[in-house]
Amino acid sequence: AKRRGRNRYTWFETQMEDEMRFRNDLETGIRRGISRGEFVPYYEQQIDLASGELVGFEMLARWRSPQFGLVSPETFIPIAEEIDLISELSESLIRQALKDAREWDPRLTLSVNISPLQLRDPWFAQKLLRMLADSGFPPGRLEIEITESCLLEDINAVRTMVSSLKNQGIRISLDDFGTGYSSLTQLRSLPFDRLKIDRSFVAELASGGVSSSLVKAIISLGRGLALPVTAEGVESPDVLDALRKMGELKGQGYLYGKPEDATTTRERLAQMHLL
Ligand code: C2E
Ligand code: CA
Ligand code: CA
Ligand code: CA
Repeated sequence: AKRRGRNRYTWFETQMEDEMRFRNDLETGIRRGISRGEFVPYYEQQIDLASGELVGFEMLARWRSPQFGLVSPETFIPIAEEIDLISELSESLIRQALKDAREWDPRLTLSVNISPLQLRDPWFAQKLLRMLADSGFPPGRLEIEITESCLLEDINAVRTMVSSLKNQGIRISLDDFGTGYSSLTQLRSLPFDRLKIDRSFVAELASGGVSSSLVKAIISLGRGLALPVTAEGVESPDVLDALRKMGELKGQGYLYGKPEDATTTRERLAQMHLL
């Protein structure tokens, strides 16, 4: 028994060493990847569910790593936040996205995700306006998505930032709504322009159950606050059907397409005469 115990200890040590090495490789890779332009925007279609019309795209970051392949933002965003590179990374992605989106039909909007850390950066609004000015993309077509967890941070800092962005005509969506702990008071006290229902609720719609009442509740909350609502994770015709019956919604999800790179997005838009 004693020997087994020691072996297990060694196994844990090796496991931890492996993980630390992997983590280190990721960090090094991220630093190098930023300077080598390996981080690229992908775009997911956003649809008006009633008409089926394309209304815009959400930019979702991807890392084309020579070492790890195409890496998901769920892996590299938290690390970039920890090693204090999130602003640099995000700014490079937003610059690329604004340049891409400038070519699209002027009716189409661009949504980008912002880390809570960026909202606490007092220069963020100024930097964003600078990027908009440099790109020539109109602020009125830009939507910033912030997650509910941002509201747990310094709410006053968030409020200041949100109002200075809004003063410039930029719209603000509350992302992943329903997964966090925002209070109705906070919802009312911040001038959001849209609620996005988290896909964990939407995915279960087809099977009925409690998520159906939850989604309905969020939609009527949105109606009460005069906030338009987007459902994410629309994967099947059944879910689409259920959502259409619930109200006037926008939606996005694999039913319409997975996120695609700039070139594929351009080709899609060209086919639709939306370039
Ligand atoms: P999110 O903003 O909630 O984005 C939606 C995620 O769900 C995306 O994953 C998208 O590819 C995926 N998705 C969309 N439709 C469907 C569907 O029908 N079914 C399923 N199963 N999944 C669907 P992705 O691209 O891996 O992004 C994950 C998260 O990473 C995003 O969640 C967002 O919070 C964060 N993120 C992405 N890009 C950025 C960025 O540039 N900056 C920051 N701070 N966060 C980012
Ligand atoms: Ca989002
Ligand atoms: Ca979301
Ligand atoms: Ca999400």
